[in-house]
Amino acid sequence: MSQIPKSPFTKNVLQLFKNGLREMQRELRQSVEKAQQEIRAFAGLDPLDDMDVCSGNCDKEALFARNSENRTRLRKVELALERVQKGDFGICVTCGVAIGLKRLQVLPWASNCIECQEQSEQGRPDECASLQPSFAG
Ligand SMILES: [Zn+2]
Repeated sequence: MSQIPKSPFTKNVLQLFKNGLREMQRELRQSVEKAQQEIRAFAGLDPLDDMDVCSGNCDKEALFARNSENRTRLRKVELALERVQKGDFGICVTCGVAIGLKRLQVLPWASNCIECQEQSEQGRPDECASLQPSFAG
């Protein structure tokens, strides 16, 4: 319990990240809710209406993809907020070194330093890679 790594940032910097993350959390929640309403609306449509026209299905695919992307991001933002709360925000969860401020300004929800991130991406690509629709033709 005394071994929790300490965030390299001052209270003021942490507060700024917290504000930014809260803002993102609010926006992401709104878009997730909105997408879920749209998905429900789609589910109510007759799927036979425009089967051979790509538009209907493609929009739906895009909607699902965007929604799951937003949910993933929302999770990360919420985790980052927890880490601000706990006081280890800005520390790589894998190797324990400080994540650079510049990296966090671009990706405030990052929980890995750039090296660990690259390594895990080589091992198993996550994020958008798996969201491509697998059917063809
Ligand atoms: Zn690391």
